[in-house]
Amino acid sequence: MITGQQKPLAEIKEMTQPFHKVLIAGCGTCVTVCFAGGEKEVGILAAELRMARQLEGQPLEIVERTVQRQCEWEYVDPLQPEIEGVEAVVSLACGIGVQALAQRFPNARVLPGVNTSFLGLPEKPGLFTERCAACGNCILHLTGGICPIARCSKSLLNGPCGGSAEGHCEIDKEVDCAWQLIYDRLKALGQLDLMAEIIPAKDWSTNRDGGPRKIVREDLMLDIPEEGRFG
Ligand code: SF4
Ligand code: SF4
Repeated sequence: MITGQQKPLAEIKEMTQPFHKVLIAGCGTCVTVCFAGGEKEVGILAAELRMARQLEGQPLEIVERTVQRQCEWEYVDPLQPEIEGVEAVVSLACGIGVQALAQRFPNARVLPGVNTSFLGLPEKPGLFTERCAACGNCILHLTGGICPIARCSKSLLNGPCGGSAEGHCEIDKEVDCAWQLIYDRLKALGQLDLMAEIIPAKDWSTNRDGGPRKIVREDLMLDIPEEGRFG
C-alpha cells in the first residue's frame, strides 16, 4: 500500500488561509488504512480547521467528502459539484490522488494535505514499514523475498556491507540489516547458494532514473475517447 502522514495542522491552515470555503476530500483506500486521510481524518481536520479559523475571527466554511479512491476517474468525477462550489480543495489522498484531482478539474486549486511516504506494509497497529521502492524489475526471487533496494540503507545488491553488526544496520541500530535478514531467510529455505552468486549491476532505466514511467497495455485500451477512459 501507499503510506503517508497528514501534514501538520499549521501547514494546512497556512495553505488554506486565503480561502473562505474549501472542500476537504478524503480517500477511502491506502490513506484510510494508514490513518492519514480517510473519512475519520477528514472529519477531525475539518473540526480543527474550523475551530482555528473561528478563533482568528476568520470563519472557514468546509465541505467534507470522502470517495473510495482518489486515483480513479470513476470515483473522482462525482466530486465535480462540490469542487465547483468551493475556492480550493484540500486533498487527503496520496500524491497520486492530489494530481488526479488537479488533472480532472483544471480550474480547481488542489492543496496536498498528506505527505506521501513510501510503499509499505502495515506490520501491526501504528507501525508501517517500507517494503518496495518500485524499481520496475523485481529481484525478490534472488533474495529470499526480502527487498535489498527498499530495506538496505545503501540499496546494496550484494551484501552485507562491512558495517553490519549483530543483525543491525550501521546507519541506525534500530534497523535490521536487510542482508542479515536475507541471509537468515535463504538459510532457512536451504538456498544459501544464492548468497554466493553475484547479482549483476541493475538496469536502473526501469526505475525513476529513466524519467517518468508509464505502463501501456494496448489490449486493455478501448476504442473510446481519451477523456472517457479510466486511468
Ligand atoms: S526488487 Fe524492486 S520491485 Fe521488487 S520489491 Fe524491491 S524495489 Fe520493489
Ligand atoms: S548494514 Fe546491512 S542494511 Fe545497513 S547498509 Fe550495510 S548491508 Fe545495508
